[in-house]
Amino acid sequence: MYKVIIERECGCIRRENMAMESSFTDKDDALIEASELARKMNDDLCGKHQFGVRQEGEDFLITMQMRG
Ligand SMILES: [Zn+2]
Repeated sequence: MYKVIIERECGCIRRENMAMESSFTDKDDALIEASELARKMNDDLCGKHQFGVRQEGEDFLITMQMRG
């Protein structure tokens, strides 16, 4: 089981009521979903945070950094 996990929750994520975690049986599906999610979050959320993807074992973490 491969998991996509939003590592840290900022106010926008809470407002959007996004799922913090989802599971996939296929690794590629999980990776695609994680990249899509990070891209969407960068486009749609406040713009104050920068989201990326980091793989950790079987998990793909959506990481969050403050933008400059
Ligand atoms: Zn935010």
